[in-house]
Amino acid sequence: MTEFGDQAILSIDLDALVANWRRLAAMAPGSECAGILKADAYGTGAAMAGPALWRAGCRRFFVAHTTEALDLRKVLPDAAIHILHGPAPGAEPDIAAAGLSPVLSTPGQIAAWAAEARRLGRALPAALHIDTGMNRLGLTDAEAAAVADDPSRLEGIALDFVMTHLACAEEADNPHNPAQRDRFAAWRARFPGLKGSLTNSAGIFLGTGYHHDILRPGIGLYGANPLGPGDTPRHRAARMSEVVHLQGKILQVRSVDRGQTVGYGAGYIVEKPSRIATVAVGYADGFSRALSGRGSAVIRGRQGHVRVPLAGRVSMDLITLDVSALAPEDCLPGTAVSLLGGGVDIDDQAEAARTNAYELLTQLGHRYRRIYAGTGATGAGA
Ligand SMILES: *Cc1c(COP(=O)(O)O)cnc(C)c1O
Repeated sequence: MTEFGDQAILSIDLDALVANWRRLAAMAPGSECAGILKADAYGTGAAMAGPALWRAGCRRFFVAHTTEALDLRKVLPDAAIHILHGPAPGAEPDIAAAGLSPVLSTPGQIAAWAAEARRLGRALPAALHIDTGMNRLGLTDAEAAAVADDPSRLEGIALDFVMTHLACAEEADNPHNPAQRDRFAAWRARFPGLKGSLTNSAGIFLGTGYHHDILRPGIGLYGANPLGPGDTPRHRAARMSEVVHLQGKILQVRSVDRGQTVGYGAGYIVEKPSRIATVAVGYADGFSRALSGRGSAVIRGRQGHVRVPLAGRVSMDLITLDVSALAPEDCLPGTAVSLLGGGVDIDDQAEAARTNAYELLTQLGHRYRRIYAGTGATGAGA
């Protein structure tokens, strides 16, 4: 592939992805560890991440949309693939033909999936989502009770597991966690013989009482801290291997005198003579405009990694950095600047943007040159 000097590079380390999956799986040896690949594997590319996890032994995957599941089936012909939103209305025949397993969250979805099973004259796989306090997806108490009281509603559906989703799993002491765990235990007793699935990445860190049969980690696989930003001993122990490294390239460097301004709105006023580097990444590439005046980047100079602040607003295709702390030879045009990873902690950058690592990852743009590294990339044209 032609490499242009100004193009930003998004490197995705599939070995680190696999290491993170193995690490989370090892925390719950009695459970099966699935992989969450929704939103194109949190922006990293489900067609690469899925097969890498499969080669490591992951046999079960979750996505949000029916279309995501149908796409994933093309690269994971033998995996269990679950659709968190349930079957898209009208897509039931396609879902059944592709051997996908929808997570049923409403009485209507249960009825539609049972009807499809009747039409085909064979049992169809599915899971059941029961809400335990999130009030987002899942059967309500009354709906779940109605299904438990009348199992004929599930006729033709080969139920694999029941699941629920934690609202506050990053907070070890939040009383929502034991409350949801206990409500889930009560529902599992009403659906005897089915496996249970409760935890996302952060939930795995809540301990064995939360693990159940199937773990559902997403964000931790992709290298962000499952517990979010922070530097407590608990956070340090939950640090994952870095998967994503985004590097922009310097286009120009200019000297700016005291009193001059940088960027749109002229809101950034230079206080002492400075050198400003312009980098070819902007909000159209998913580099959040909310990082204006708040984010930072790292440049590797001869004295080691140097953290440099954003100067002025993030614009569509460009950002400007105050590189006065670096020797001019260390920030010539073409120099790579780490914007995520490579010394820029993704959770810290997300906090600076007043969002979370999930949003930074899933907004990663499409103009980057993507490079997949690691043995997981073998044979996939990387
Ligand atoms: C996204 C999602 C997960 C994964 O959560 P992480 O916090 O990314 O580990 C698990 N379960 C459900 C239902 C989800 O929607």
